[in-house]
Amino acid sequence: MNPNVMVCLTFDFDALSLWIGGFRARSLSAISRGEFGRVGAERILDLLQSRGLRATWFVPGHTAETFPTLIERIAAAGHEIGNHGYLHTHPKSPEDEEQILQHGNAVLERIAGQRPIGFRSPGAGLSSNMVGLLVKYGFLYDSSLMGGDFLPYYMRAGDEARDDGPYVFGNEVEVVEIPFTWGLDDFPAFEYVTSRGGIQQGLASPSAVYEIWRGDFDYLYSRAGEGVYTLTMHPQVIGRGHRMLMIERLIDYIGRHRGVTFATMAEVATAWKRAHPLGGR
Ligand SMILES: [Zn+2]
Repeated sequence: MNPNVMVCLTFDFDALSLWIGGFRARSLSAISRGEFGRVGAERILDLLQSRGLRATWFVPGHTAETFPTLIERIAAAGHEIGNHGYLHTHPKSPEDEEQILQHGNAVLERIAGQRPIGFRSPGAGLSSNMVGLLVKYGFLYDSSLMGGDFLPYYMRAGDEARDDGPYVFGNEVEVVEIPFTWGLDDFPAFEYVTSRGGIQQGLASPSAVYEIWRGDFDYLYSRAGEGVYTLTMHPQVIGRGHRMLMIERLIDYIGRHRGVTFATMAEVATAWKRAHPLGGR
């Protein structure tokens, strides 16, 4: 077997928007957790540069307007920048959803100088309406769903969750899904969060997370042999010292394997779509 594994390092640069929008926080202490994202992002940029790697950054419009110079630096380093909404909120209506998507696009085009072709839903809250919007606005891919692990697939329009019968799978559309999973996401593992919904303990040991993240890579590489390994990280989370050492170690471990290519999600989606044209099977 000749393994052929693509690795997508993805960074959701939520920064302050997560706390202001997602958690409705108003205390300076809570909001400043997102401010730390600036420190984390700079560390990540240095790490990626030292290894000659390009990554995919999903950036809310709010972050781009708050830290424009940093976003310009990310774009200038050759990284891909994807749409991650504006203020990391769940839209209140289909019209609101479309307006947020457009707003995010406009801000990123203005500041990063690139029109996003990838989307990740803030807080993994993708709606069925959004599938139609991604088609309408010409997005190449999405990375918000968990219907697979290592293999991309086409998104579907018209899925229906019914109480009185089986789930109805809609028709495939032109947008590629590159799945993510909470298990390969730094936020649930590491972040301590208290909210009205309860407490998220977080604060995992980096060695425990390394074991999980490496385990999925090892399975993909040694058993499946072909596919996409996607890590979802947040500069304000992975940017802490002990976690940076962990991700450095993991990147170097993965990079020692023959047949592994680090790529942006746009590159992965483009290649996958070419090999699996919709309706061509
Ligand atoms: Zn996010």
